[in-house]
Amino acid sequence: MLRLTHLKLPLVHTDAELRAAIVQRLGIPTEALRAFTVFKRSYDARKRGHIHLIYSLDVTVSDEARVLARWADDAQVGPTPDMRYRFVTQAPPAGAAGGDFRRPIIIGFGPCGLFAALVLAQMGFRPIVLERGKAVRERTQDTWGLWRKRALNPESNVQFGEGGAGTFSDGKLYSQIKDPHHHGRKVLTEFVKAGAPEEILYVSKPHIGTFRLVSMIERMRQSITDLGGEIRFSQRVADLYIENGQVCGVTLASGERLHSDHVVLAVGHSARDTFQMLHERGVHIEAKPFSIGFRIEHPQSLIDTCRFGPQAGHPLLGAADYKLVHHCKNGRSVYSFCMCPGGTVVAATSEPGRVVTNGMSQYSRNERNANSAIVVGITPEDYPGGPLAGIDLQRQLESRAFVLGGGNYDAPAQLVGDFLAGRPSTVFGSVLPSYQPGVRLGDLDASLPAYAIAAIREALPAFDQQIRGFAMADAVLTGVETRTSSPIRITRGKDYQSLNTRGLYPAGEGAGYAGGILSAGIDGIKVAEAVALSLVGTKQSRA
Ligand SMILES: Cc1cc2nc3c(=O)[nH]c(=O)nc-3n(C[C@H](O)[C@H](O)[C@H](O)COP(=O)(O)OP(=O)(O)OC[C@H]3O[C@@H](n4cnc5c(N)ncnc54)[C@H](O)[C@@H]3O)c2cc1C
Repeated sequence: MLRLTHLKLPLVHTDAELRAAIVQRLGIPTEALRAFTVFKRSYDARKRGHIHLIYSLDVTVSDEARVLARWADDAQVGPTPDMRYRFVTQAPPAGAAGGDFRRPIIIGFGPCGLFAALVLAQMGFRPIVLERGKAVRERTQDTWGLWRKRALNPESNVQFGEGGAGTFSDGKLYSQIKDPHHHGRKVLTEFVKAGAPEEILYVSKPHIGTFRLVSMIERMRQSITDLGGEIRFSQRVADLYIENGQVCGVTLASGERLHSDHVVLAVGHSARDTFQMLHERGVHIEAKPFSIGFRIEHPQSLIDTCRFGPQAGHPLLGAADYKLVHHCKNGRSVYSFCMCPGGTVVAATSEPGRVVTNGMSQYSRNERNANSAIVVGITPEDYPGGPLAGIDLQRQLESRAFVLGGGNYDAPAQLVGDFLAGRPSTVFGSVLPSYQPGVRLGDLDASLPAYAIAAIREALPAFDQQIRGFAMADAVLTGVETRTSSPIRITRGKDYQSLNTRGLYPAGEGAGYAGGILSAGIDGIKVAEAVALSLVGTKQSRA
């Protein structure tokens, strides 16, 4: 098969036109083209009103050797690269049969823990997953409890429970990390097997949306248990026991102890009590940079028109997104993060008395507003005081937002026009915020450090140069966005084990090794491979 890349066609075209373009590009007779599949499809919207689709295609032709020879120097025509993910190892039969084999423990059932568990189970190990939150359907009820009734369950919410932090999300599935072993393909393929739309395998910016994720996670849980894995909900790991620098097992909040010398720590960025416990146990932790800011909401139609012009609304384009960066005079960088086209802003705290924003959408992305986080990068120099000082800062800001919101889980908000003019907001304009349970208009100046407020104030008009209307007076800012990534890194070595605690595998977003659903899933697979290699006790090379 051949991989043909960068084939450009107008947004509106037929299959026959696509076939004709392939034939023309390869310079072959029509009958020599046997079949083709779309490997990737993206769009080029740089010229509004003249949007093009860009294809990468896997093409079967009748005389492949001759076509390849003819295009030998052309980077856009070549043999299809091997995109298959392969296991690095297989468990010995004793592992599969449940013999004298120590079962790996995975703490956390977000995307990282889920893929670690799935891959270990597929390799014949029978992992035990411990998840502090509830199974996804019950968890959904608890999450709505905060959004609809202002009732927070600290163990079952947007951050905690089956599926992890990204379950109630836009389900964006792209990442810029290097992926030489095609682990990302493995993640997407497993998602499709579990019910995700096939297009996630080929569109350039795939997303799933919240509703589908819920049933997909249930199917993946079933696959793990069918293979002998075990998933226990409402089981918070409260302690680790470590002897002579080697992890030996975990203690649950109930007091129960489980033994294992292979423990994957996939707890996400909000497991603050767990980070504290790890610190007290002497596990090596470092402070790391993260970002703070607000969510901003505009009419989705404004973003669509600005990005797509007269072609806005075309079904192949969907709701438009954006990505913005501004480097400020005070040395700070402000950027848009986790943009949710046609979505809603959600209450994302896991701790009582705190307010945190985030964003989600459904697969259709057809809500009225577009939202994204507008955040400022900060570093440990901004929060000196040890590895956990970033968490202290997050807590401080989230508590302040709770008070500014009125102390009932409403979030503080301000219109962009008022924010730029430095006056409190009192009344909404044309944009109504989507955050539930509600927002309280006022002045956001007190909600973030002065350097962050100054940076965002400078960035919004700069963003308006790229997306006309971005700084529109009626756009709404809602605060605060503090959980953009983990404020710590639980550093690991090349063998994926903690620097000073053997058998402990820090993984995913909480450990500072992922920043989204796809990268957390990929990290889970890599860690599963490392665990498998250690359990088997060999250094098998890739097949
Ligand atoms: C509202 C929202 C929207 C998002 N949207 C997107 C998006 O569209 N695309 C994207 O790529 N990313 C998105 N993200 C980020 C993404 O969800 C995370 O990057 C990803 O979930 C990280 O995966 P993880 O497995 O490392 O950690 P998590 O998903 O956080 O999972 C960690 C799990 O560990 C459990 N846990 C924690 N402590 C313990 C303990 N002591 N004992 C037992 N269990 C424990 C938690 O309950 C949780 O289920 C979003 C996040 C949120 C909150």
